[in-house]
Amino acid sequence: SGKFFVGGNWKCNGTKDTISKLVSDLNSAKLEADVDVVVAPPFVYIDQVKNTLTDRIEISAQNSWVGKGGAFTGEISVEQLKDIGCKWVILGHSERRHVIGEVDQFIGKKAAYALTEGLGVIACIGEKLEEREAGKTFDVCFQQLKAFADAVPSWENVVIAYEPVWAIGTGKVASPAQAQEVHAAVRDWLKKNISAEVASKTRIIYGGSVNGGNSAELAKQEDIDGFLVGGASLKGPEFATIINSVT
Ligand code: 13P
Repeated sequence: SGKFFVGGNWKCNGTKDTISKLVSDLNSAKLEADVDVVVAPPFVYIDQVKNTLTDRIEISAQNSWVGKGGAFTGEISVEQLKDIGCKWVILGHSERRHVIGEVDQFIGKKAAYALTEGLGVIACIGEKLEEREAGKTFDVCFQQLKAFADAVPSWENVVIAYEPVWAIGTGKVASPAQAQEVHAAVRDWLKKNISAEVASKTRIIYGGSVNGGNSAELAKQEDIDGFLVGGASLKGPEFATIINSVT
């Protein structure tokens, strides 16, 4: 459904020097034409990346403020992100939910604001290990999805990222069947609760220990439309391998 979408979430990693090397590796990598590629540097390096990275790759932020900028110490507004050339923002990432404490409603509001102002949203959902073991995977994912659905004005610029928390940064990638099962359920939820058109057009990407060795098998699954890559996106050649594996 839609063009494959591969995002690199650099999280809170990098220095001017390591990012300059990563950008030059990405600039010289051969990337297949019909995959949307996006990278999300830490805020402070977005300008550097925007000014040096090939236009073939779009830029995402890893978070944004919930409304218009102003007296919100330490926050970055959607308007500022657009001003420095961001096209996307990642919202609801598990690290923001579970490490920093962001809740569904707040995340939904952020998504609504970003979309209204013209940024694309990479909307993250995913269950924790104990939730999976308790048979609550779908409940948790649907609840997080509903919070986005209740808030967003349109699905046109939304990509859903299914990132099971137990697979993030652990090396324990979901099996292709495990990922496909949730992706299919998410698509079915969209069909029942939004529309058949949104269900078929919205890209549902997988994240959690994706690497150059496992991406091709995952990409073959019917409802996997791309990836959100953490650790492996910090290595230019491996990220290129992942991008090229999906075609
Ligand atoms: P890893 O690829 O490092 O597991 O991280 C996934 C992720 O959280 C992407 O947003």
